Amino acid sequence: MLQQARSLLEKHYGYSSFRNGQEQAIQSVLEGNDTLCVMPTGGGKSICYQIPALMFQGTSVVISPLISLMKDQVDALLQAGIPAAYINSSLSAADVHERMMKAKQGEYRMLYIAPERLESYEFMNQLMELSIPLVAVDEAHCISQWGHDFRPSYQRIQRMITQLPVKPVVMALTATATPKVREDICQSLNIDEDHSILTGFARENLSFSVVKGQDRLPFLKDFLKKNETESGIIYAATRKNVDQLHDLLNKNGIRVSKYHAGMSDEDRISGQEDFLLDRTSVMVATSAFGMGIDKSNIRYVVHYQLPKNMESYYQEAGRAGRDGLDSECILLYSPQDVQVQRFLIDQSSDRMRMPQELEKLQLMVDYCHTENCLQRKIVQYFSEMDMPPCGRCGNCTDSRESRDVTKEAQMVLSCVIRMGQKRFGKALVAQVLTGSQNRKVIDLSLNQLPTYGIMKDKSAKEVTSFIEFLISQDLIGVEHGTYPLIYVNPGGKDVLMGNMPVQRKEAVQTKTLAAGDPLFEELRAVRKSLAEQEKVPPFVIFSDTALKDMCVKQPE
Ligand code: ADP
Ligand code: MG
Ligand code: ZN
Repeated sequence: MLQQARSLLEKHYGYSSFRNGQEQAIQSVLEGNDTLCVMPTGGGKSICYQIPALMFQGTSVVISPLISLMKDQVDALLQAGIPAAYINSSLSAADVHERMMKAKQGEYRMLYIAPERLESYEFMNQLMELSIPLVAVDEAHCISQWGHDFRPSYQRIQRMITQLPVKPVVMALTATATPKVREDICQSLNIDEDHSILTGFARENLSFSVVKGQDRLPFLKDFLKKNETESGIIYAATRKNVDQLHDLLNKNGIRVSKYHAGMSDEDRISGQEDFLLDRTSVMVATSAFGMGIDKSNIRYVVHYQLPKNMESYYQEAGRAGRDGLDSECILLYSPQDVQVQRFLIDQSSDRMRMPQELEKLQLMVDYCHTENCLQRKIVQYFSEMDMPPCGRCGNCTDSRESRDVTKEAQMVLSCVIRMGQKRFGKALVAQVLTGSQNRKVIDLSLNQLPTYGIMKDKSAKEVTSFIEFLISQDLIGVEHGTYPLIYVNPGGKDVLMGNMPVQRKEAVQTKTLAAGDPLFEELRAVRKSLAEQEKVPPFVIFSDTALKDMCVKQPE
């Protein structure tokens, strides 16, 4: 059987060997198992259902969420000499009818359909008349509320499957491997989790890095100059950003295309073609660009602004290096981007999903602040599997010495405890630590706290960034409500107790403390209460009415 699969791979796709996981996935389906296939973007999931579809009798159905993606896939199949068709809202009723008639006559090996079709009673009746050996659910994370692209119609797929006269083999495919999403997919489609195929999420040819504390434009110009002969994508947050950046680079003599949803179809398509055919070397785009694009020689993907979550980031960055050659993924980070993303989340229509979206944004920010291996951080995020440090990313190759910042961490942590868990945001904590005269600090009598001004040789900005770092190390947690409120995590308590050191490469060290070290006394007090009651009594010296007056959100 696998022999036949291999010869089909060669015949239709021109590849001589399977990639990691493809063979297992195909085998599992050929054995008749309902199967979940989790592979990173660009890993080669399509072949995992297309080859079984070629080996089974009848018309396999592929559920796919995007009209453009469907068309590209079908075009590619037709080119490879495989009869296939798609059915979605871009077709007239007459066209749909014609294609369904052909399908009934068994003219297609694969029929791609949009999930919304399953909501039509009439269409379902027509499906019942086909002989369907395999149902492939592409981008299966759309089934899950925890995925980044929830599509309610995906939840109808299982009903469609159970209505078919003969039970088909079901294959779900996705690049999102978080346990929650996997569980949802398996539950919704009735797949035994033991029949999951997960390939490694590390992309060995990609080097990730985060650039912060630098002006982005000069950095970008310099980077593009060094990579003049290479092809790459620059993702910017908004259409306006894309337009501006495009004009600027253009003026600098760079051969650059652009792509965003606000352009005319004509301009968008011609820009895309120029880039795909290497007439331009740089594509500046919003996240609208890239789904279904299969350009293999992309040597770098630069994010000019912070993406909204890790899923979008890895999807977009993962477009680099599909040919397996070394490529770079660079994220240019600036703290004000977090506000922009928060604003966008706030503006979005789905209020129910806001807390989840904010949590995901926080994890994206954590990625920017971590000093651990970035590839490992990604792998852990998507699969909760572990890997040794990659040795290639910006953090693995950062040769700066780590310094012990335990003392500074303790100052911050005890200040958070003093101000009350989940009561304030990081900016106010930083102001207290640096001894700010800000009205809020004074009105709330926060200047009476023993930790007030304990880091006054630092700027509030530096301390805020240090707090971000402590968040990325899981020493401080964030609760997302109307405002993000911070609190000390169990790990942070270990640090306070002196049981765990903290190291950081970026300098934050404060001057040696004067005699009668205030931190010493402070730690003694905080530790005592931590040890005695686990729960620290709020060292608050302000009244709750004062809090209300200041419109500071209180814990529920
Ligand atoms: P995914 O859906 O997992 O993101 P695709 O199925 O679109 O990935 O495949 C990504 C690219 O990898 C395509 O260009 C595809 O032709 C190529 N590819 C898939 N399988 C192989 C293989 N066995 N050998 C070489 N290239 C492959
Ligand atoms: Mg795919
Ligand atoms: Zn690394």
